[in-house]
Amino acid sequence: MGDSTSPLSTYQAKRDFGETPEPAGAVEPSGGAPRFVVQEHHATALHWDLRLERDGVLVSWALPKGVPPDPRVNHLAVHTEDHPMQYLDFQGSIPAGNYGAGTMSVWDTGTYEPEKWGEREVIVVLHGARVDGRYVLFQTRGKQWMIHRMDPPADPDRDVWPGWSAFPAMVAVPGAAVPAEGYGVEFAWGGQRVLTFVSGGRVQLHPVGGPSVSEGGENGGGELVGRFRELRALGEALGVTEVVLDGEIIVVDGDGRPSKPRLAERQGARSDAASRRLSERYPATMMVSDLLWLDGHSTMARPYEQRRQLLSGLSMSGPAWQVPRSYPGTDGVALLAAASQQGLPGVVAKRLDSPYQGDAGAWIFVPAGKNDA
Ligand code: MN
Repeated sequence: MGDSTSPLSTYQAKRDFGETPEPAGAVEPSGGAPRFVVQEHHATALHWDLRLERDGVLVSWALPKGVPPDPRVNHLAVHTEDHPMQYLDFQGSIPAGNYGAGTMSVWDTGTYEPEKWGEREVIVVLHGARVDGRYVLFQTRGKQWMIHRMDPPADPDRDVWPGWSAFPAMVAVPGAAVPAEGYGVEFAWGGQRVLTFVSGGRVQLHPVGGPSVSEGGENGGGELVGRFRELRALGEALGVTEVVLDGEIIVVDGDGRPSKPRLAERQGARSDAASRRLSERYPATMMVSDLLWLDGHSTMARPYEQRRQLLSGLSMSGPAWQVPRSYPGTDGVALLAAASQQGLPGVVAKRLDSPYQGDAGAWIFVPAGKNDA
C-alpha cells in the first residue's frame, strides 16, 4: 500500500489489486520525451482518460466527450487521481464491483511537449497517431477543467455541427411502381422516423413526423433518447466518430414483425421507470438507412449511392441497430411482394445519383398490396 504522501496513494486506495488487473505501480521517473496516453474507457458512462507523464506519474483527466478535434468546441475535463506510469499501456477489463468497472483500451499514445505546467493551466503539444496538436487544459472550478485545442483542426475543412435545422428530413412521394433503372430499393418499416446525432459518444434523437412530432426541437431529442434508452449504446459503439443518421425505430412482435401497438407503448412511456421497464419488455431496433454527416462534414450533397457506401464503412451493427440492405431496382417487384408478405407498409425507391433533399421523386414510396396470403 502506498503511504499517504505518495502521489499514488489516492490511486492505490481506490483499488483492490487482488481484484482488478490494473497495475499497482510505483512512482517511476523515465528519461526521454514525456509520454501521454488517451484511453477509451467504457465504464458506467463512456469517457476518455487523458494521462500526461509528469514527475514519475501520469497526471490524469477524464474527458466525457474525448479530446476536442476543433478549437471552436471545448470539452469538459475532470481532473482525476494520478496514475502510475505502468498505466501507459494498460488495456483490459476491470471487473464489476471495482472502481472504474468496464473495459479500457488505448485510443492513442505518444509523446508530448510541456509548454506550460501551472497549478490551474497546462499547455501541451501532443504527438500521437490520432491526436497531434497544441492543447490547453485550464481549471474552471475544483476538479472541473476544460480542454481547448489551440491549433486549427487537423482536418482544415472540418465544420462544427450546425444543428438540426441544417438537416431537413427527405420525404418520399407516393408512387405506383418501383422504377427498375437507377434506383435502390429498401423496405419501409412503418416505425418512428428519427434523425440521430452522435458526437463524443453521446446520442441525440430528433423525431421526424409521426406521433412524437410534438417532442421536436433541441430538447425533444433528449426526451426521446430517454424513451429509447437502448439506442444510447450506439454512442458507445461509434466512440469519437461523429454522425447524423436517418432511420426508423421499430419494435417487433412475437413473430418478428414491426408492431405499431408496441411502438406506441414505448413512445408513450410516462416516466423514466416506465421507459426502462418497457425497453426490457419490448426492445427497439433502429433501422438505419442514410448518412447525412460524418466527422465534421455534411454528406447531404453526395449521391445516395456514395452515402450508402460511407454508411457501410462504419460497419454499424449492434444489439439495437442495423443497416438493412438497399436492393437494386430490378429487385423492386420481388421486394414489394416480400413487404406485403411480412406485413410491412411497402418499399422506398431512392435514386442512386440523387443528393439528400434532391428533386421530388428522387425518393418514391410504393405501398405494399394487401396481404392475401
Ligand atoms: Mn476512466
